[in-house]
Amino acid sequence: MKQTLTGVPSAAELAELHREHLWLHLTNHKLYETQEPPIMAEGTGYMLKDVQGKEFVDGLSGGVWVVNVGHGRASIADAVSRQMKLLPYYAGSMATPPYIMLAAKLASLLPSLPKVYLSNSGSEANEKAFKMVRQYFAAKSPGKKKYKIIYRDRDYHGTTLAALASSGQQERRADFGPLPEGFAEIPHALCYRCPFGKSYPGCNIDCARALEQVIQQEGEDSVAAVILEPVTAGGGIIPPVPEYYPVLQEICRRYGVLLILDEVVTGFGRTGALFGHQHYDVQPDIITLAKGLASGYMPISATVARKEIFNQFMAGPEEPNGFFRDISTFGGCAGSSVAALENIRIIEEERLTENSALMGAYLMERLKELEAFPIVGNVRGQGLLAGVELVEDKRSKIPLQESRLAQIVASAREDGVIIGRMTRSVPGYNNVLYMAPPLIIDKYGIDRII
Ligand code: PLP
Repeated sequence: MKQTLTGVPSAAELAELHREHLWLHLTNHKLYETQEPPIMAEGTGYMLKDVQGKEFVDGLSGGVWVVNVGHGRASIADAVSRQMKLLPYYAGSMATPPYIMLAAKLASLLPSLPKVYLSNSGSEANEKAFKMVRQYFAAKSPGKKKYKIIYRDRDYHGTTLAALASSGQQERRADFGPLPEGFAEIPHALCYRCPFGKSYPGCNIDCARALEQVIQQEGEDSVAAVILEPVTAGGGIIPPVPEYYPVLQEICRRYGVLLILDEVVTGFGRTGALFGHQHYDVQPDIITLAKGLASGYMPISATVARKEIFNQFMAGPEEPNGFFRDISTFGGCAGSSVAALENIRIIEEERLTENSALMGAYLMERLKELEAFPIVGNVRGQGLLAGVELVEDKRSKIPLQESRLAQIVASAREDGVIIGRMTRSVPGYNNVLYMAPPLIIDKYGIDRII
């Protein structure tokens, strides 16, 4: 039984308090004037239970592809509890043993990126990456003003204003302007709607080559970095073709532009490799990590960088560039670090990345069956990150109306399965259903989702 100030709340009391006080993320509260708001109460493995006792298959790992190890992991709760009794917190400007152990663990998983900077969320990890890159070039090439960041259409990098300025989803940026300047866009990499009207493999990978043109337009001395999701997640589940990253990286190297990969979603087994970029021949300079890093048991994110980038911050202690001029109060919190360490231990011990590859292949095989339906335009994904693009008809590829996607998601929930959809489509963009269950999912769970 769960206690509140007034005793044990019933589902109806909770719903009333919900209506009275909550302002939820990305939620139209008008709906709840006529409908009961869903309230999730418990979870075990890939199953969830709401306050009414109704059970659901969690096809989205906690709503936004976070809970990679599944719900109800007592060993993470125990590790956090032990650490909190020992030392709950110390600022990220001084080390604690868990911070050191987590940094060493991450460096062992990503040996070319041995320097680990901790913060609280994916957005923050990306903001830190931008600040690192800008201060790095300010120190390395003084007077050159090498500060611009290039991002890709349909990618998302976060909610804070610079992270939003680097996000290629107009629907999320609307009304928040003016956003910080110094960001420029390259086209998306979705073959189904090739921005150049071409088809793979005879396309010359023009979507990656477009980077060179944008660098030249922006001024090659001014471009500092490119940020990309290895596989675009929320923008429509878009795994680029194998040649994409080698082509893009060659351009980055030629122009002295750093490559930041945002593995906030794709990290920690989600795509069937421990990190999403490992499906490709690419060597990033910085990687950002969040969601699956502690599977949502505690808030934590990381920006991991090459040694050469870190070394640029090793001027004498009196120098303005003798340190990275950044701090977040909760970044590096000891409790979050132990949650991440235990989470990674579980992923390794239970071979969850392998299960993600195996079950991801099964999910894809089953989703392909849906292509027989007239409204299923394209099925795509990597590991346990899958999308089904719905269209009015296959030839015209006109996106299926958003209200119909909403109906599908709602009726799945009615049937006890949680899946997702693109939250807002803009005309000309695709409409995609999302599936990203915890990495512990089995065939039975996937069959339920299908
Ligand atoms: N990067 C990617 C790829 C994301 O999908 C998200 C969030 O969905 C973020 C960054 C931002 O992370 P957060 O919401 O933790 O700030």
